[in-house]
Amino acid sequence: MIYVWTGVALLGVAASLIAIRSFRPAPFAAPTPWTGPLPDASPPSEMAIYQLPTGTYENRAFLAYRGGGFSDVRQFAATAVLVQHPAGDLLIDAGFGANVEAHIAAMPSYRRTPHELGSTVRDQLRAKDYDMARLKGVVITHAHWDHVSGLDELDAPVWLNPAEGRYVERAKDGGVFREVASQRQIHHYTFDGPPYLGFPSSHDVHGDGSVVIVEAGGHTDGSVVVFVNLPDGRRFAFIGDLTWQIEGVTHRAERPKMLQMLADVNPKQVREGLQRIVAVADHMHVVPAHDVHAYDPIPKWMSVSGTRPNPS
Ligand SMILES: [Zn+2]
Repeated sequence: MIYVWTGVALLGVAASLIAIRSFRPAPFAAPTPWTGPLPDASPPSEMAIYQLPTGTYENRAFLAYRGGGFSDVRQFAATAVLVQHPAGDLLIDAGFGANVEAHIAAMPSYRRTPHELGSTVRDQLRAKDYDMARLKGVVITHAHWDHVSGLDELDAPVWLNPAEGRYVERAKDGGVFREVASQRQIHHYTFDGPPYLGFPSSHDVHGDGSVVIVEAGGHTDGSVVVFVNLPDGRRFAFIGDLTWQIEGVTHRAERPKMLQMLADVNPKQVREGLQRIVAVADHMHVVPAHDVHAYDPIPKWMSVSGTRPNPS
């Protein structure tokens, strides 16, 4: 009997060692940096972007990316971005909504972490007398709860591509989306445009290269990256959850294996998307959805004064 227990104990040690190894740094292969011309963009001068933080939740860095510290507690951002354009404004993701407590409570207990709530996107827009008629839609980077919770308060179409449409129909973690989106109009879009910065196809929202969506699946089936190109020449890549923290790009650090198994439908595809972003990262600001500081170059909607929130 003692041999059996020794065997079980040894197996346990071996499994723990394998688990620990999967948290160690192991940068993925560096891609060839992008040397071609950057895609054309002629953004109108009235274009502007703002961040609308709606709250945060806590996670330790070692769970976020390989090589992250155990005692390094990170606040994960739940932030929406307003992209103003004369042809119609867009939000990228919706942040926490008024019912976020219920959305959190609906998750399995092991996935709930301490969180802080701020104002919802709708409350922030209202506080600055934003004309909701300007809002053309909400482009979600993907349909997980922490990106869509606020949709129930936003009377605007939700932009959905075919792969994400299939994902939300079957995914266990699509429950919040199914609930909040049931009250919303869905705007179906496809990747009808040419390859873009290494991604196989694209969707140019306004036809002027200012806002271009590409498919970057693997976290969910139809996860996307939204490229935003501003009149002052700055370029942004909103990469959703390709990585949870910027080290995914700066250190080429994927999620630890165990977290990939829990969080990604296809980790290999996530890596390919991340490699494409690493290849262009020198040319733009890369914003992983949950990295609080990645939003630093973007003015907060609520702190803007002296400008007109609704350009005409
Ligand atoms: Zn997320």
